[in-house]
Parts: sequence; C-alpha cells; structure tokens
Amino acid sequence: MPLLVQKFGGTSVADSQKILAAARRAIRAHNQGARVLVVVSARGHTTDELVDLAKEITERPPAREMDMLLSTGEQVSVALMAMAIQSLGVPAISFTGSQIGLVTDSFHTKARIRNINTERMVQALDSGKIVIVAGFQGVDENYNITTLGRGGSDTTAVALAAVLGADACEIYTDVDGVYTTDPRVVPEARKVDRISYDEMLELASLGAGVMHSRSIEFAKKYGVPIHVRSSFSDAEGTWIVAEGDARRLGVTVSGAALAKEEARVTILGVPDHPGVVHQIFRNIAEANIVVDMIVQNVAKDGRTEVSFTVAADDLDDTLPAAEAAAKAIGAGGVTHGAGVSKVSVVGLGMRTHTGVATAMFEALADAGVNIEMITTSEIKISVLVQRAQAADALRAVHRAFGLERPAAVWNEPFTIEKSATRLLRKAPATENGANGSAAPSIPSGMEDLVISGVELDEGQARVTLLEVPDRPGYAARVFRHIAEAGVFVDMIVQNVSHEGKTLLSFTVPRDAADRAVEAARAAGEGAVTVETSLAKLSVLGVGMRTHTGVAVRMFGTLAELGINIALINTSEVRVNVATDVSRGREALGALRKAFALPAEA
Ligand code: ASP
Ligand code: MG
Repeated sequence: MPLLVQKFGGTSVADSQKILAAARRAIRAHNQGARVLVVVSARGHTTDELVDLAKEITERPPAREMDMLLSTGEQVSVALMAMAIQSLGVPAISFTGSQIGLVTDSFHTKARIRNINTERMVQALDSGKIVIVAGFQGVDENYNITTLGRGGSDTTAVALAAVLGADACEIYTDVDGVYTTDPRVVPEARKVDRISYDEMLELASLGAGVMHSRSIEFAKKYGVPIHVRSSFSDAEGTWIVAEGDARRLGVTVSGAALAKEEARVTILGVPDHPGVVHQIFRNIAEANIVVDMIVQNVAKDGRTEVSFTVAADDLDDTLPAAEAAAKAIGAGGVTHGAGVSKVSVVGLGMRTHTGVATAMFEALADAGVNIEMITTSEIKISVLVQRAQAADALRAVHRAFGLERPAAVWNEPFTIEKSATRLLRKAPATENGANGSAAPSIPSGMEDLVISGVELDEGQARVTLLEVPDRPGYAARVFRHIAEAGVFVDMIVQNVSHEGKTLLSFTVPRDAADRAVEAARAAGEGAVTVETSLAKLSVLGVGMRTHTGVAVRMFGTLAELGINIALINTSEVRVNVATDVSRGREALGALRKAFALPAEA
C-alpha cells in the first residue's frame, strides 16, 4: 500500500473552510488506497503573532519559553485537522512532535532532528487512521519542547517521509510550484516541472521562499521525491527529485536566483601563507555567523585578498570578528560593501562554464551592470552586484537564458515507481517503515552535516588577468574570447576591485592553458599570468550552507599540513580550493579523514 506524506502550510489551513478542504484532500488519497500522514503548520500568521506577543512582554524572550509558545500554533492546527477528518467520516488521530518521539538537540528555536521513533505513527496508520503530526516541533532528551527554525514544518514532513519510507512527500502551499526565478521580480518567470535536489539547494535563496532548505537536504540524503503544489488546485506542481530524473537534454540553465540583502567583507593584504584563511574563518564561525560566498584570488607580491559575503543583518556582528582576524594574521585591513546582492544562475547542464559564463556576463554588460565578485560551482555561477541594479540584473539574466519560454517537453511524466530518486532510499528505514512490521528509530544525528565526498582534480591550470578594469563588459569580453578558442572553463574567481582594478582568474584543463592565455591576452589590456601546476580540491555535501563549520574544517586541515591555498570559491553545496598539484594527493587523504570518509579505494 503506498504511503503518502502531505504537508499543509499556514495559508492552506488558515481558516476552518481551508482546514476542511485540506481534510478532503487527505481523505481523497486515503480513499484511493494510500496510507496518509499529514503534517501541518500553524494557521495563517499565527507564528508571527506569537512572536509579536512575546516581544510585547520582553525584548529578549528566553529561547526555551519561545519554543514552548511557538509550538502551540501547530498544536491548534493538528487538533482541528483531526476533528475535520473525523467529521467527514474517516478515523484520524493527531500527535505533537514529542508524542511521536521526534527528538532534537537542545538548540532552542533552531533545533536539529536527532531521531524519530516511527512506532506510534506506524501503529496508527496500520489501524487505518489518517495520522496528523504537528510540524516544526520536537522535544530534546530532557523533554523540553524545541522548534526547528522558521519554516521548519517542511523539514518535519520530509523527515517523516524519510523514516517511514513514504512514496512521496507532497508540499501543499499557496504557490503552484517552484519558478525559474522570483515572479515578484520577474513577472515572466515560469513554473518548473522537475528540478534536482542540488539545483534546488543551489537556488536556496530562491527556494527559501518556497521551501525550507534543510528539508531539501533531508530529501536528498534519503531519496524522498518532493512534489510542491498548490492547495487550491489539482494541477501538477514541481517535482524535486534526483539528478537522474531531472536531467534534460539541451537545457543548461534551470533557474536564476537573487539574494538581495547581502553584505561584503574584504580582508586586504592577507599574507600568502598556509593557515591564514583558516584563522579568518575560525574567527567568523566563533561569532556564529553564516558565511555565504567566499572568494580568494591569486596573491600578488606575497599578499592576497579574501572576500566573503554575509547576510546584510549580520554585517555589524561580522566586522569586529573580521577586524580581529585581520589583526591576528597581520593583514592590511578590512573593507566592506553594504549595499550588494548576489545574482546566480543554476543548471545541471552546465558541466563547463564557458558558454554559460559568456552569456551571463554579456547579459549583465548589456544591462550596464558591473560585476563586483564572481564565484562558481559545478552547476552554478554567482556574481555580486550593486543592490540598486540587482532586479535589472536578474531580469537580464533570466531573459538571456530564455527561461521565460516553456521548457522542452519531458519524454515521460515523472513516476515514482520508475524514478532514480527511489533508488537513493536508505534500505533499512524504507523497508521497515513501508511494511510497517518493525518500528525503527533511525540512528542519531539524522540531520547532521553530511559530507558526501571530497574530490581531487590534478589537471588544472589557472589563468589570471592582472589588471581588469572595474567596469561593465570586461568579463563578458574575456569569456567570449575563451569560448571562441574552444577552451572549457571550470572555476571562475573574481575578487572585489580597488583603485579601479581587479584580478580575474579561471581554471582550465592544463593542456588548454596556452590557448587560454592567448585568448585572454587577445581580449584585453594588462598582463596575463598562468600557473600550470594546480590541483582542485572540493568538499561537497549536504547541509553546507546551514553548517558554518565546513570551510573552517577544510581550511584547518590544509593549514595543519602547511598547504597553501591558491584560490577559493564556494557555493551552496561545495567549497573548492586550488593548491599546488604536488600536495594534491596528500590533501585529499587528509580531507577524507577530516570529514570521516572512507579512504579511497
Ligand atoms: N509555523 C512555523 C513558521 O511559521 C513553521 C512553518 O510554518 O513551517 O515558521
Ligand atoms: Mg513554509
């Protein structure tokens, strides 16, 4: 018998009519023969109202009591939902997070799930009931009520789908799916039929509006197919699935995203020694600040610059930590830029960046947008731009990739039975959960950071343009020449400029280095240098964005070995560094050990 998890967000249970409509939807699936587990959020703006209420009492409500308060919103919803289903003639039972043994750590207001006991849910499902579980909440090992962070009901739903081995997790919301970009900024944005977990994670700043990113991390780890759809219609929404199910021929870019409220911090005159970057990010991590982009370019005269971005709201807390770090490593100073935004394009089809970078940078140049920083991952290119130009930049990029046009039709509709996503399932949880005979509690730390791999590419060369003028159109011209020379570009890094000049580096396969240099020289003014003995090391995984520690651990491991970092670029799901190729193997082994991965076969 199929098992379906249906999650209804706040707007989908805002009033009694909507609760009854959601109840009918659950009943419909139940009548079609599925076992149905429903996860609900607090009604409408309840959570916001509770937050406001607490703030009327005190400026700084204690986190433990905040969780006690906020968890009530979902408790109201589950009770009403159970009543609604029963009133329509189907047996149903509601549970709070603690009643199903959803155990978390003790970080109030941002707790992470440790494990979930499926026994009670499975029993109730087996007896023919629709089971309703309160989203967003859990309990720590001392029975304190915890919550998973705003928007956390999505994470509850996907986690329950994972431990129960559900066939799919349906997310009912007030939009009809995931869009190619934010339709409020770009009205011609279009609904995407299918997208992979990694694309969705890389689009976090877009995805955040639709789904809690931690829920996608979960779904990827446990192979849960997610269907985001409207609670007000029966139309198909967007399936978020494994790569094998989301890959489409001829489509390079799937979406474009804007992270509007960013701030940039740059540490100037960083001595080019092993260990210094580690020291910088350890200081930032200790201040509990989540870092987004990290960019480090080539050193000039033994000094380099390290830039990173943080949420604009975190800038005030970040600057003292950055200044302390700069002092400790003997750096030249700290500058910052407050009014910046990040624009990204994402797509599985982007194996190399040559064509996509050219098209993106040309679109920005035509729109008169200056690129302040560039970083890339395997499936993403991000640039930092002035916030006042961010919306124009997003629109220009969206148009350049034809994202407003209906995408090619899929050969076949997505079916759970035949999907590659399903193969990802962790067997024990699936089988025990699905046949209902056993009641497993999955190993502790289910939501812990998962590093899925460390990769080494020993065949890289880096080309650097030393005097890139700080004006629109330059990067576009460079990559146009590179594309015409038929060179595949991998990492692209551009740090912020000062005195009107900046460095632009990119890596290419070693045997294409000469051609790349020639093309770069033809493209522009100023000197071009090349370094032909580089290796790229990447740490990739799930939970990188929400865990500040990855970069720190990676840089720390390299520092201990005395390995110098020649280049850094980052994305939502990976941290890439370039080092000297002679140290590549050694670094790979140490990183595998640091992230507790088995040694390479
Ligand atoms: N009610 C919680 C919130 O508003 C959790 C959720 O809706 O996902 O953040
Ligand atoms: Mg939500």
